[in-house]
Amino acid sequence: MLNIALFGPPGAGKGTQSDLIVEKYSLIHISTGDLLRAEMKAKTPLGIKLQYKMDHGILVPDEVVIEMILKKIEKNFDSKGFIFDGFPRTINQAEVFDIMLKPFNMSVSGMLSLEVETNELVTRIKHRGLISGRPDDQDEEIIMNRIKQYQEKTAPVKEFYKKQNKLFEIDGIGSIQTIFSNIEKICNSLV
Ligand code: AMP
Repeated sequence: MLNIALFGPPGAGKGTQSDLIVEKYSLIHISTGDLLRAEMKAKTPLGIKLQYKMDHGILVPDEVVIEMILKKIEKNFDSKGFIFDGFPRTINQAEVFDIMLKPFNMSVSGMLSLEVETNELVTRIKHRGLISGRPDDQDEEIIMNRIKQYQEKTAPVKEFYKKQNKLFEIDGIGSIQTIFSNIEKICNSLV
């Protein structure tokens, strides 16, 4: 089983690269952001409750995303593997994730971290906002808050995987295809 945690700040290209990885390695794509947006779109009690946090780029409570991930794994347990996009995003999520994968006889094969500097991220997210319509992609203050949350709460997760020798840093600037071929080399070494 190939289980990839795709990591990087908002706007690093995780969604685009996830699609290519899924296609090549037939993995199940789990994006916590997409799952949360689906809850909001369907106006479920959870979606309504989390709307403010989501719209303002504030991380939702760890237990909410952990529960979502667990349900998706249980449903797709017979797959070739998973790509976790936007998860784990805190040290606590990463620690719980390791523990919760054990009963499934699963572990994270590698964490692929897309590296992109802040100015480029802001430009990309604003551009995406014109198409995505996401409120958190359209306001510069919210975009900066998302990047700050990433730096403060999410970036330390890299150390967690580095200690396990599972961290792979990838230059996230360049053509989609060049970045993907670097990802492919790593995935091929992990299969
Ligand atoms: P994304 O689509 O990954 O940029 O996520 C959009 C928003 O969903 C984030 O700004 C958070 O509010 C929430 N979110 C997504 N994934 C997580 C996570 N793993 N932990 C906490 N909040 C999350």
